[in-house]
Amino acid sequence: MSAPMKSAAIHWATKAFGAVLLCMAALLPITAHAEDVRPGCWAATSTVSGGDDPVLPRTDRWICDGQAQEIARGTSWLFFTPADFAMLDTPPDHFVTDIGRFERIHLIVMDASGPLRSRAYSMRDVGTFVNGPKFALPLPDMTRATGLVVAIEKPWSPAIMSQAQLQTRHDIDDALGWSNSAMLVLALLVGLLATPLAYNAAFYRILREPFVLWMLAAEISMLAYVLVSSGLFHHIVDVSLPVSVSISALTLFAPMLFSTGFFLSYLEERTLSETMHQLLMSTAIATGIVGAFFCLPMEFLRPYGHDLFLGAPVPLLVAVAAACVMAARNGSNAVWFQAASWTALAVSALAVMARSSGMGIAGAWPDILLYAAIFAHVAIGSIAVVYRVDIMRRERERVNARLESLTNLIDLDPLTGIFNRRALEQRFAELRSDGFHALAVVDLDHFKQVNDRFGHTVGDRVLQEVAAVLASDKDAIAFRMGGEEFVIMLRGAQIQQRAEQLRRAITIRIANEVDGIDGPITASMGLIESPPGGISSMRQLYSQADRLLYEAKYSGRNRLITERIQVFTPPSRERRMKDRRRESA
Ligand code: GH3
Ligand code: MG
Ligand code: MG
Repeated sequence: MSAPMKSAAIHWATKAFGAVLLCMAALLPITAHAEDVRPGCWAATSTVSGGDDPVLPRTDRWICDGQAQEIARGTSWLFFTPADFAMLDTPPDHFVTDIGRFERIHLIVMDASGPLRSRAYSMRDVGTFVNGPKFALPLPDMTRATGLVVAIEKPWSPAIMSQAQLQTRHDIDDALGWSNSAMLVLALLVGLLATPLAYNAAFYRILREPFVLWMLAAEISMLAYVLVSSGLFHHIVDVSLPVSVSISALTLFAPMLFSTGFFLSYLEERTLSETMHQLLMSTAIATGIVGAFFCLPMEFLRPYGHDLFLGAPVPLLVAVAAACVMAARNGSNAVWFQAASWTALAVSALAVMARSSGMGIAGAWPDILLYAAIFAHVAIGSIAVVYRVDIMRRERERVNARLESLTNLIDLDPLTGIFNRRALEQRFAELRSDGFHALAVVDLDHFKQVNDRFGHTVGDRVLQEVAAVLASDKDAIAFRMGGEEFVIMLRGAQIQQRAEQLRRAITIRIANEVDGIDGPITASMGLIESPPGGISSMRQLYSQADRLLYEAKYSGRNRLITERIQVFTPPSRERRMKDRRRESA
């Protein structure tokens, strides 16, 4: 990771972490509901009354310590004892618990002599969804009540029992379920999660990489989880309890599937084996299918379906951990982002699952942890996407540099390594504006004879030496135009002298460097200088220099003929007046 990227990543990670801490602090009021009444005793029986007046369990069947956690074969019972009510100023008016499937719930008001009055609800009768993943049932008239018995027929999840409580709605502002301030923080969290969605959608337009789509899908499904698990979505859409239960399970599994897709598409190529790749993707798909299957309302699944449902993600978490180790060993950088966000998700998801299977965990802290982890996951994911954009930018620069060197290759003459005619044509205007105002054409004398007498290979060696000589002037650029003809572009002082020096050096160098030649090899040169304001087209300058070269050949070869283009600058006004006076005198 580049240094600025690293510091930006740390900067944003610190910010994200701070925001997560703030959110968690603000969410703490979820747990603090002053008037919560929890059941003091519970029981489980194998019978389902089916009628309106269920027969209460015998006294010795009640357990009065610990939390109700058993999914009863028939009916789960909760008993809110007189002691549980003692601290209340006003009697409770709602039974509130976590959403889940059941056949019927009976709320039975007790007095000293036994059941006083009761009400029964089926899943379809539930119409009050409150803050959190919860629903509420209005209690019967509680006057003269000394206790309340709740009979839950065929419950599907231990959370219906373990999260059960009685609450009082004092007025319209006093919320049931989680507190209103907690809901406000959750709504803010939803807003925060929606922002990276827009960013990532924009990134996809630039990147066109599948990992951005996976990330988008994971973010959307996590957003859905927050909306559903917090109960916020009941403010937006009107859905029944059975639908709500199914959506709730789906939003728990969908992020796992999409995050796995993100994990696999985000890692650098070849950091995971093909087998590991397939294992991870098939585990994710199987997790989704198994999770969805155990959500189906089939009676034979009910007693253990919940535990299997909660256990479904465990193989996936193990596979992700193994993939993280493999990728890290193969030198992946990207895996650290993934490891960080998956660890947070896994720990908090396990806490939520442990609570909902009634493993002695109560309260809302696993939810807070999971929300924080989701926020961290999205924040880390966004940083990861930015990191990848940076890598791609550097990759593109590398490709561009390579392309540039390839273009140079097209411009080079393969035999001598100097520029070719194409390069001169491409760069002529640029060279002139850089001060290269002189152009010389160089042609070896009687070169055909060199080939004829000493062979083509020796001829080639001669051409290579000529190129080496012409490239030796640091203010001259040499081009091979074809055959044994070269062009030199020159700038700076004493152009004629330098050109002549180069021409003579050809003969000396060939004599020194190329073996097997018995006589001197000479060159003729035509040089034209055209200062700014003079001829500036390549074709014109070249043909002028070529004409001078022809003159050199014609007048005996082995010589330089030069010409300077005179640029006419009109004399000043005073000068013209003086000249005219002199003429008339
Ligand atoms: P002049 O003094 O009038 O320039 O005579 P010349 O023999 O040099 O001129 P001419 O244009 O008749 O001959 C050029 C020769 O250059 C012809 C060709 O065999 C040779 N030649 C062209 N390209 C190459 C090359 O790449 N390698 C070699 N070895 N010879 C080449
Ligand atoms: Mg020649
Ligand atoms: Mg020639």
